Amino acid sequence: MQGPGVHRTKVGAFQVTALYDGTWSLPIDGTFVRNASGGAVNRALANAFLPPRVLPISFTALLVNTGTKLVLIDTGTAGQVADTAGVMLDNLKIAGVTPDQIDTILISHFHPDHIDGLKTKDGAKVFAKAEIVVPEPEWAFWMNDAKMAGQPKPVQRYFLNAKRIFGDIADEVRRFKPGAEVVPGITSIPAYGHTPGHTAFAIHSGNQSMLAMSDTVRKPYLFARHPDWQPIFDMDGSLAVKTRRRMLDRAAADRMLVEAYHFPFPASGHMVRRGTGYELVPVEWKPL
Ligand SMILES: [Zn+2]
Repeated sequence: MQGPGVHRTKVGAFQVTALYDGTWSLPIDGTFVRNASGGAVNRALANAFLPPRVLPISFTALLVNTGTKLVLIDTGTAGQVADTAGVMLDNLKIAGVTPDQIDTILISHFHPDHIDGLKTKDGAKVFAKAEIVVPEPEWAFWMNDAKMAGQPKPVQRYFLNAKRIFGDIADEVRRFKPGAEVVPGITSIPAYGHTPGHTAFAIHSGNQSMLAMSDTVRKPYLFARHPDWQPIFDMDGSLAVKTRRRMLDRAAADRMLVEAYHFPFPASGHMVRRGTGYELVPVEWKPL
């Protein structure tokens, strides 16, 4: 076995803990990126020393201890997306936290790999006392039956899943307008394109900050290296490219510490400009 999937760092006075949930090895074909060939994608994978035609989708949730609140950003998959993922709660336990100690859960968007951890397969709530905080435009889109009609089947499944997760706990959910401060020290940033209300978060404490980019950039060796590539996961491909470029630009120019849900664990580092794209410089592991 590998060691525990828990990685801690400090952002000012806040303690930030990356919690690994698992990896889904997703077979991909020449249709995976709308505007790049399968050959180009396989070359980018080879440049990252990875086999062709498989995308390793890792999942890492982020726990922020602000000193007064325990805030979880996205929830892991609870074993409901792939058999090889769903260990986030085990890693939370190793981090010394029980689910009912979580005060606030921030949701970036309503794709299953980000929200399924809110409930077990049987529909029981996992985080008994947490306030659930979601982007208003995500709620408005995915919880609206009229929007579901006419969507392709896989997207319809996301609608049904969002209803399964949120339908009976709607009155426990707080909705925010992206751009707002959502808890003291954490500000939401509209990052639309991947989904209609997809949101990133900036974590600030003292003179330090971390930019949690959510799914703005998934695998760095594909989509930071090639920011213009439009994977089929991005609902509005060209808007997602604009958002991705804006965020990578800002992260590189301001030398910000970044984190992203699907980056290789511990899913954080810095972005530097390289040729026509960007590259992830991983964080240096160190004991805290
Ligand atoms: Zn995702």
